[in-house]
Amino acid sequence: MKTYRIAAIPGDGIGTEVISAGVEVLQAVAAQDGGFSVAVDHFDWGGEYYKAHGRMMPENGRDLIRRHDAILFGSAGHPEIPDHVTLWGLRLAICQPFDQYANVRPTRILPGIVPPLRHVNGPELDWVIVRENSEGEYAGVGGRVHQGSPLEAATDVTMFTRAGVERIMRFAFALARSRPRKLLTVVTKSNAQRHGMVLWDEIAAEVAREFPDVTWDKMLVDAMTMRMVIKPGSIDTIVATNLHADILSDLAAALAGSLGIAPTANLNPEGQFPSMFEPIHGSAFDIMGKGIANPIGTFWSIVMMLDHLGQPAAAARLMQAIERVTADKTFHTPDLGGSARTAEVTRAVIGALSGANALG
Ligand code: NAD
Ligand code: MN
Repeated sequence: MKTYRIAAIPGDGIGTEVISAGVEVLQAVAAQDGGFSVAVDHFDWGGEYYKAHGRMMPENGRDLIRRHDAILFGSAGHPEIPDHVTLWGLRLAICQPFDQYANVRPTRILPGIVPPLRHVNGPELDWVIVRENSEGEYAGVGGRVHQGSPLEAATDVTMFTRAGVERIMRFAFALARSRPRKLLTVVTKSNAQRHGMVLWDEIAAEVAREFPDVTWDKMLVDAMTMRMVIKPGSIDTIVATNLHADILSDLAAALAGSLGIAPTANLNPEGQFPSMFEPIHGSAFDIMGKGIANPIGTFWSIVMMLDHLGQPAAAARLMQAIERVTADKTFHTPDLGGSARTAEVTRAVIGALSGANALG
């Protein structure tokens, strides 16, 4: 029997709460499937580790997880440590060296969830956002000089490479092709940003020729926010830069009902390094420790992980169990307007999994 080695990195805040729920659910899926098992190694990296050791993860941290089959990540973000330290010290310290360049973020309105847009009926909003995850605005190029003096200056240089844009564009076109509508929107800001974003437009047109069966269009990012709200049904697959897609995907999550539901996969498509799966939300300082974090975003991320590991049947069973649970408002956490607790939602999903089995 195949055993998958999973590295669990809960991080901080509600990251620890949703990842322990996620590991329970993952073990339940494996037990119910019977065809594979999972061995989960826990890594206590994050803000508390930083307070003890002066860094977010050990120096050889990546070596400790390099040979795992996948990484399940919670959140980097601690109330007592600056956000750029926690983010660069942990999440980006894994994503970038492991070349997880394709960040995939599906958005759908799950059964039972009332989205904020009353004019939209559920099935109309069914998107996948592909975020370039290795360069662009978050390349880390830049610096600060003359700190504290009136001459102080700071730059964050956006960096695009032909190789980087081509590979994300090809990934997005291929993903769009695999979906029923075969429809891709390339988001840029090539009117104001006249170098890198123009390169994106040119490469989109080049790559499009390799995918004649995919219909594609271009949108400026500001106009895209409007289209997402006003005509969500006109969108299917989206590709955008690191920063633009970061923002668009929080909007997408809110339009689908809650940030607490939204999943993501940080993929190294070539499989040279493990890929990383995580809810898109952060540490949520306002609700941490209360036991009310919505774990659905983590569970859905585990669905993506199972698909990536080559267990599509188990992935489909878990998704079905999630949808049965969201359909019942008794199991809605406060972010969805309910009063359920993390542990109740977790038990309900594990219960629904056995139901899914009984139905075959
Ligand atoms: P956040 O996602 O932590 O919270 C935004 C709002 O959404 C809060 O009101 C929160 O209560 C709510 N929310 C988020 N997830 C929820 C869930 N599962 N269930 C119920 N409600 C949920 O974003 P923020 O407040 O901007 O950031 C807090 C910290 O998290 C910061 O340190 C930030 O840097 C970090 N962060 C980390 C990641 C990551 O590691 N991937 C992502 C985003 C933010
Ligand atoms: Mn974000």
